[in-house]
Amino acid sequence: MNADPAIETKSQSAIREADSQDFRDHLSTADKEGHRQWLYPRKPRGRYYRLRTYLSWFLLALMFAGPFVRVNGNPLLLLNFVERKFIILGQIFWPQDMIISAVTLLIFFTGIIVFTAAFGRLWCGWTCPQTVLMEMVFRKIEYFIEGDSANQRILKKSRWTASKIIKKVSKHALFFALSFVIGNTLLAYLIGTEQLFKIVTDNPVDHLQGLTFMILFTLIFYGIFARFREQACTFICPYGRFQSALLDENTLVVAYDYKRGEKRAPLKRSETMKQRDAAGAGDCVNCFACVSVCPTGIDIRNGPQMECVQCTACIDACDNIMDKVGRPRGLIRYASLNGIEHREQWRITPRLVGYCVLLLALIGLWMVLVFTRSAVETTFLRAPGALFQQMPDGHFSNLYTVRVVNKTSHAIPLELKLENIRGNLQVMGSQLIAPAEKLAENSVLIDLDPAVLKSGTTPVVVGVYSKGKRLQTIKTSFIGPRNDTN
Ligand code: SF4
Ligand code: SF4
Repeated sequence: MNADPAIETKSQSAIREADSQDFRDHLSTADKEGHRQWLYPRKPRGRYYRLRTYLSWFLLALMFAGPFVRVNGNPLLLLNFVERKFIILGQIFWPQDMIISAVTLLIFFTGIIVFTAAFGRLWCGWTCPQTVLMEMVFRKIEYFIEGDSANQRILKKSRWTASKIIKKVSKHALFFALSFVIGNTLLAYLIGTEQLFKIVTDNPVDHLQGLTFMILFTLIFYGIFARFREQACTFICPYGRFQSALLDENTLVVAYDYKRGEKRAPLKRSETMKQRDAAGAGDCVNCFACVSVCPTGIDIRNGPQMECVQCTACIDACDNIMDKVGRPRGLIRYASLNGIEHREQWRITPRLVGYCVLLLALIGLWMVLVFTRSAVETTFLRAPGALFQQMPDGHFSNLYTVRVVNKTSHAIPLELKLENIRGNLQVMGSQLIAPAEKLAENSVLIDLDPAVLKSGTTPVVVGVYSKGKRLQTIKTSFIGPRNDTN
């Protein structure tokens, strides 16, 4: 305990008690004690919700069909971290494609920065799998079984009757089944559909690891969509956290036009809008429709907030109210801070132009790297411990190990040729064939006439050919006798 009362008083006063009325001091989903407050958002209705629904059909079809779609015989997307094999748009990337992977990541992050700087969290509201699955699948099932917000609250408070049990059990059974499908889809993106089918059809004992992940993913998704919900965006997703550093006064966000809306006041029955205007009231009739539809439980009238996923539900809700009270739509709308404060048109800022130029340059570099890379990646290493040997005909020979990674999904017969020097190159054993998506390894013997040798080390270039087409050239060195010992 601190003996100095002055210090104690100062430190105590520094711990300010959270004011639950102030939205900056507390989470919309927690009460004064910090306990979770379950949200019952009302079902949105309106043009944006319709558009998001149509888009979600496309995205869901893409998400679930993705592992089955083949491009050049390869999946559309495969992220096999265990085998370090990655396929994007049918193109196989190996750990050897480090530069391409690095550029891909740079494009991803720059894309996020450009997009966020220009359009805020458009990704979160319209295309993020968490939002699409939560709002367009799980929430809709909930509305279908338990009804809209008010009915859900009543059901929650009601006694456990047969009807309530049926509703709850059927909802959670559907949630669990869907989580199983989503978990398996994720697994298919990680290990491929062939491997997934093996796990499903083979003896379970042979795939204990795969089955464990299958169950784990199912439970995680069930936990997220049945219980954790909006908290995944608020507490877990890092994107929401760093977006505040990317937004500026020209970023397009879902915003409340406080200049038009304030001073907010309820619309009295007998009151006309003219009388309201004369009384100095704004267009906001303080109906809380925008708050009641919000899936993160916030009040957009408090300004941009970390929890807002820009889902546009509040725009639809407010537009409906504006239609009813005879005011123009757009009291809540897509707008920038400058758009609202200074009525400025949205414009492309120099910062955004800079980001776009960088993004385009990275995309260009990525395309060059992808379309000029070789189908095989060959390494040519001198056999460890071996120097050179002199053959009966007087030639000198070196033994090498050749390793060829085949980046394609079909086997490639290969031929090796000396490119810069006269001599013999012999692949030991059978013909060199790089199996699909695998590594081929063989020993190679090169023998050279002493007349072409330099003292000590002679540079050698080997061409890697398939069906007469040169795929790659490899530089290596040939060790021969030094002149002084020759
Ligand atoms: S404030 Fe509006 S846009 Fe933001 S999450 Fe809530 S309803 Fe969606
Ligand atoms: S829905 Fe519109 S009018 Fe109603 S409280 Fe929200 S901003 Fe105000």
